[in-house]
Amino acid sequence: MKKTKVIATIGPATSDKEKIKELILNGMDVARINMSHANQEFLKYVVDTVQELNKELNTFVSTMLDTEGPSVRVEHLEGGFAYLTKGDKIRIYEESILGDHTKFSVRYTKLLENVKGNTTLKINDGLVELFVLEKGPNYLLCEVIEGGRIEEGNRVNIIGINLELPFLSERDRSDILYASKLNVDFVALSFVSTHEDVLEVNDLLIDAEDAHMAILPKIENAYALEDLDEIIKVSDGIIVARGDLGVELPLEKIPGIQKQIINKCHHASKVSIVATEMMTSMEEKTRPTRAEVSDVANAVLEGVDCMLLAGETTVGKYPTESLSMMARIIESAEEDIDYYELLNQAMRTEKQDTTCSLSYSVVECANRLKAAAIVAPTMSGYTAKKISRFRPTCPILAMSPDMETVKSLNIYYGVYPILIENTKSFDKMMELSKHQATKKFILAEGSRIIITGGYPFKEVKHTNFMKIEDL
Ligand code: PEP
Repeated sequence: MKKTKVIATIGPATSDKEKIKELILNGMDVARINMSHANQEFLKYVVDTVQELNKELNTFVSTMLDTEGPSVRVEHLEGGFAYLTKGDKIRIYEESILGDHTKFSVRYTKLLENVKGNTTLKINDGLVELFVLEKGPNYLLCEVIEGGRIEEGNRVNIIGINLELPFLSERDRSDILYASKLNVDFVALSFVSTHEDVLEVNDLLIDAEDAHMAILPKIENAYALEDLDEIIKVSDGIIVARGDLGVELPLEKIPGIQKQIINKCHHASKVSIVATEMMTSMEEKTRPTRAEVSDVANAVLEGVDCMLLAGETTVGKYPTESLSMMARIIESAEEDIDYYELLNQAMRTEKQDTTCSLSYSVVECANRLKAAAIVAPTMSGYTAKKISRFRPTCPILAMSPDMETVKSLNIYYGVYPILIENTKSFDKMMELSKHQATKKFILAEGSRIIITGGYPFKEVKHTNFMKIEDL
């Protein structure tokens, strides 16, 4: 059973219930809805469908909202798109016009004020590149450095310019509040620049009395990298958004940045998620390239918690196959993880409190005794998160009577959360742990499991016991 988690984005290729069901049955831990391409109606549909399927399948798949984020976008184009030719000149206006291959407008009133000469603009995932030559009276005159197709609504990345846009647009604010009402479990924040942006969303959720939704900023520009340590401190985890990161920064910088973010998150006991183009060739083909297989495997070896599928499951021809292939690669790569090093690395940077010390011992013991599973009865999820951080070789079954706790654990490496009935009895909990672990991980007689938690249940706030059981 794979321990690295998979987030799959739901889109046209996977929007019907049967397709979502296939994704769940093939290892999707979290269903993501990307508001750059979806609306609130679709968000509600996906959340409701995942909930229905969870009931039908007895699963606990979570949901994630991904905000549009502050953005400058191409406005109306004749026919909806245009082809720009390398070497041509093109004008970009602030006020709305009907665009074509010689001119277009963007919805950003500070374009002329903010953008200086010698600035590069990128459109359509960076494929089209414009260079600002001069400012006209009400437009920017640019040269087309790389030509190609642009479409209405395409994001315009203005490289090296910190946009004077509020971090939360009215739309983002409304989407987050709506998602909160729907009890969505995670919010991925697009185009975070500083930790203040994250705190703004935190305040919004506090005002909405939502203590559940976890905040996961996407790192996708140079400003966020400058404030990375502070952003990590105030977040539940970080998404390495390689799509826009590769537009905003030179592509060759991405592997180093990814490694740095995964390491920093591991040190800070926060979740790390790698996103975008992990299995892109499977949008068209039934098999990934060798390079994609290596990319997925290397993220596992670096110690990532989660991977995120986007185009593969939104518009690809083989969404389920992409997911199951990713799961196969993950499982195989997990055999080669240096668990000992990850355990020691985590211990060196961990608090020396009771839960952490015991969690370390549990993982050390589980690895040494080749335990088949660790079982953590938990109210808040804290014990399960700590054990996950120490990266055991076996999976962790987190059992909680609180559905929000269960859903919150789906992005943590190795943690398989399930809902259980509340019990105060220690003996009953031990029996339940053995029964549920056997069922979940199909354990053979004689398998060894380690049960750990805080007793009396619900009363203590830290982990204080560890029990080794042979089934
Ligand atoms: C990315 O840029 O890599 C990303 C995950 O964000 P989006 O899918 O919104 O482009």
